[in-house]
Amino acid sequence: MTDSALFRSAAIDLLGPRGFTTDPELVNPWLTDWRGRYTGAAMGLASPATTAQVSQFVQLCAEHHVPIVPQGGNSGMSGGATPDASGTSVLLSLRRMNAIRDLDIDAAQLTCDAGVVLQTLHDTASARGLRFPLTLGGKGSATIGGLISTNAGGTQVLRHGTMRAQVLGIEAVMADGQIFSGLVPLKKDNRGFDLKQLLIGSEGTLGIVTGATLRLLPAIADRRVVWAGLKSISAARDLLRHCENMAGSALEGFEVLPAHCLESVLAYLPDARAPLAENHAWHALIEVVTEDRESDHLDKIVEQMFETAMERGLTENAVMAANEAQAEAFWHLRESISPAERAIGPAMQHDISVPVARMPEFIETATPRIENRFPGTRAVGFGHLGDGNIHYHVLAPADAVRGAWENAEGKAISAYVHDLVTEFGGSISAEHGIGQMKREELGRLGDPVALDLMRVIKRALDPQGILNPGKLVPLAPGAATP
Ligand SMILES: Cc1cc2nc3c(=O)[nH]c(=O)nc-3n(C[C@H](O)[C@H](O)[C@H](O)COP(=O)(O)OP(=O)(O)OC[C@H]3O[C@@H](n4cnc5c(N)ncnc54)[C@H](O)[C@@H]3O)c2cc1C
Repeated sequence: MTDSALFRSAAIDLLGPRGFTTDPELVNPWLTDWRGRYTGAAMGLASPATTAQVSQFVQLCAEHHVPIVPQGGNSGMSGGATPDASGTSVLLSLRRMNAIRDLDIDAAQLTCDAGVVLQTLHDTASARGLRFPLTLGGKGSATIGGLISTNAGGTQVLRHGTMRAQVLGIEAVMADGQIFSGLVPLKKDNRGFDLKQLLIGSEGTLGIVTGATLRLLPAIADRRVVWAGLKSISAARDLLRHCENMAGSALEGFEVLPAHCLESVLAYLPDARAPLAENHAWHALIEVVTEDRESDHLDKIVEQMFETAMERGLTENAVMAANEAQAEAFWHLRESISPAERAIGPAMQHDISVPVARMPEFIETATPRIENRFPGTRAVGFGHLGDGNIHYHVLAPADAVRGAWENAEGKAISAYVHDLVTEFGGSISAEHGIGQMKREELGRLGDPVALDLMRVIKRALDPQGILNPGKLVPLAPGAATP
């Protein structure tokens, strides 16, 4: 038997036929990333049912030098969960590990397996009068392990922070199979390095998250959702500042989208309607909330906020959702931008951040420069203005051939955008991670000292380099491995 045949047979012995398969019908659907940009190959799909099984399986991989690509819901945007084309690695899916282990209502904490889907977490918390304060468009697929490993953001970061702020403890399997049991949700703990923080955002390159303890908050008692039409992105920035001043900590979300995104979504969702009758160059989606059941001040806040915004010319028009169904419909428009843009055709996606105050200047500088330099392209930026983070997509010319365009002109466009972001003192990955998509660019533009430290940590925790090779950690100049 070849070594890979020996490995496969040992994997089936360990995990059983449900836990390890090489059946192409079961494996292939997981070999392409959500955006359809990367397709890889794998010698099998492992789906362990417990942390102990993950640990034993990782030990087996370490013995056979088999690279492991951890995968949750495969909704990531940077190709981090897609193996390379060699077919020498295994996909390690955490989806079967989907139990809520404990829900402590008094402490407002929940401990769950890594494969729990975000929507399930929301439903579980809400059934007990609580909520998990992080949400995003991929909530029906994204898992807790994936959200932790990418330090995901979403539409509530403005008020509650990224995934990093929600995680109280982590359980993870390290590259040699050891189990790091860090589920202790202590408020204060200064026993040395905060290892869970090292694992958060490490994209499966340092360890495999198998469980987490998360903080919950009281459920929202009431909310108001407003759709505003704006004349420019600068007006959006001014409106954001205005809303922050007027609503204070009640401001839960502030998202922006240009007219092109709304048009794409309306074309993509046949039953959807534009919230405002007139056309506007930009739109903002704003949510104001209260957790106080006795309070009736939300209407007053929103009325005053938009009366003064109109007086000061910050908005051209605005409408408040009349009820929960309409509020959900407004959010559905926002959350459908990614699939709607994907349906249009090839695009280079950039998940960038710059200081909030400089975002209008960035968009107003970048868009004409890119569209002139790369004729036929169209640049659109949408998303989390309140966090200084937008998804800046450059759509391909109409005659572009998918695959070829991304690898030629697309690469030049991304380098151009990233150079500009760097000039603005920003980040080339605000929330989607590096994966395989931005690894070279991180190597090109990252701070050399930070990159060296990342390589040192990677080598220390994964000396064989079996955890998600080819992702996140850039190669050292002239080296074959990080
Ligand atoms: C429509 C849509 C909208 C989105 N909007 C946002 C948004 O607003 N903000 C945002 O931040 N993201 C957004 N995303 C991206 C995505 O949902 C997040 O990146 C999410 O965190 C990925 O979770 P996942 O379980 O699908 O992980 P996967 O895609 O399976 O994996 C992502 C990365 O994490 C690693 N990984 C997965 N599970 C584990 C584990 N248990 N242990 C170790 N490593 C692991 C993988 O190897 C890979 O590197 C969106 C996605 C979609 C489809």
